[in-house]
Amino acid sequence: MSHQNKLSFETKLLHNDHKIDPATGSVSVPIHPSSTYHQFDIDEFGKYDYSRSLNPTREALEETIASLEEGSRGFAFASGMSAISTAFLLLSQGDHVLISEDVYGGTYRMVTEVLSRYGIDHTFVDMTDLSEVEKQIRPNTKVIYVETPSNPLLKVTDIESIAKLAKQAGALTFVDNTFLTPAIQKPLALGADVVLHSATKFLSGHSDVVAGLAVVKDEAIGDKLAFLQNSFGAVLGAQDSWLVLRGLKTLHVRLEKSMESAEKIARHLQGHQLVKHVYYPGLSDHNGYHLQNHQATGAGAVLSFELENEQVLRSFVKKVQLPVFAVSLGAVESILSYPAKMSHAAMPEVERRRRGITNSLLRLSVGLEHPDDLIQDIETALEHQVNIAATPGF
Ligand code: PLP
Repeated sequence: MSHQNKLSFETKLLHNDHKIDPATGSVSVPIHPSSTYHQFDIDEFGKYDYSRSLNPTREALEETIASLEEGSRGFAFASGMSAISTAFLLLSQGDHVLISEDVYGGTYRMVTEVLSRYGIDHTFVDMTDLSEVEKQIRPNTKVIYVETPSNPLLKVTDIESIAKLAKQAGALTFVDNTFLTPAIQKPLALGADVVLHSATKFLSGHSDVVAGLAVVKDEAIGDKLAFLQNSFGAVLGAQDSWLVLRGLKTLHVRLEKSMESAEKIARHLQGHQLVKHVYYPGLSDHNGYHLQNHQATGAGAVLSFELENEQVLRSFVKKVQLPVFAVSLGAVESILSYPAKMSHAAMPEVERRRRGITNSLLRLSVGLEHPDDLIQDIETALEHQVNIAATPGF
């Protein structure tokens, strides 16, 4: 392990505690589908007894993500939402959560429609405004929940400062690190207590598995989360754990390439007459540009852009050919999403609009296609709109 700590991130993706199966020499982690385990001794049970509690393939993934996030313990769940929901079970009746206002729609739904029924209150706040965050902390605030860059407006939150405020208030800091992954941002090193992931996205990377992860540094929080993981039981299956492990091996190279293309596309979109605004923290005129450079090593591969109006958006979506038009992000293929009807459909329209998630906003998760092909495709679809606009009587 100490040798591993000296290795760079991309090498650690391949050379970690699970690179070789000690029983067989297999260089791919074996998939253990067994739900139960024979006990050889009536008094002393082995390490594994039942796969909800512990499964060797899931354990390999949990240890790998813990090491990559520089935490002490990792936990794998059946989806990003089950990781997030299980982490929220650390709270009790009467507690309060302070949460990023443009958080993922599923998290919004969990906080507003589920936790509220169990007497856990919440306040949405612009996490980029530290004085407002400080103002909204209550004596019963037990979690400050951060998504950075946020979804879909790519606002950048200062993790270190939020974690300090949380610590002073006796609250935990949760960070959803789905958009950047530990390849680019390590929230635990910045003071966060719990890192959460939809591993459905960049970590697995191929749109072929739904999975969630949580990582902690503190042993006591780890023990509580292990208890909750086993109690709630929303664990990731062995086959899916293996898929995430396989995806992880190429995480760095995928993300580097996609980020490079995302920046190129963001710059291109910025200059277009039908694009009102481009949200990408890698652009120097983005509000969070300097902070992003300070706390992460890249801006990620997701960008959003506001088109002239909803009509332009609708015909753009019809015309564009390369990206799939779908929910989700972080895959080898580019994914174009419509937050108003997809990731943020769970948010009431008035709340969405108040947050700037309009009906003319699109989100693009950039994949591994040649960036020039993507730009050409986007350009052709936009060009079509310019021609329509120029038609007499339009
Ligand atoms: N967090 C973020 C930032 C997401 O984008 C998503 C899904 O889109 C989730 C959490 C939820 O993850 P899952 O869909 O794997 O449950």
